[in-house]
Amino acid sequence: MAVERTLSIIKPDAVGKNHIGEIYSRFEKAGLKIVAARMKHLTPGEAEGFYAEHSARGFFKDLVSFMTSGPIVVSVLEGENAVLAHRDIMGATDPKKAAPGTIRADFASSIDENAVHGSDSLESAKREIAYFFRTTELCPRTR
Ligand code: UDP
Repeated sequence: MAVERTLSIIKPDAVGKNHIGEIYSRFEKAGLKIVAARMKHLTPGEAEGFYAEHSARGFFKDLVSFMTSGPIVVSVLEGENAVLAHRDIMGATDPKKAAPGTIRADFASSIDENAVHGSDSLESAKREIAYFFRTTELCPRTR
């Protein structure tokens, strides 16, 4: 299996509810390693840029408003099949459809405020990691 990196965001709702540690714990229990981490409060321009692929969608304005409503925690996770592993731990976009025991099933309140973001492919992961981190800020941990 391939060692990959993926971008993970703990969104403003989960940060606001004080769930950072519980969410990190799930990543670590699944064998994913945090190789970069930063807390930040996105500007509208940063949120629009990050979600540019959704700019034509009806929910875009609300999404930008939500993502700038409070601080987020942006992390890079490293591990075997990290992109898919992280998506599995997160659960479906809509928490009502998320499998029991997933982060979204346990911590998200709605499809709009769904606790976490995770890259959906290796290609997206590379782009999203570069959006937030310089290569020199990543600390490889998998040998
Ligand atoms: N989103 C929303 N309303 C929708 C669909 C999506 O607010 O009807 C938001 C939600 O925060 C979601 C993000 O847009 O996480 C990106 O949507 P995507 O379909 O890429 O889902 P994800 O990859 O986050 O599961």
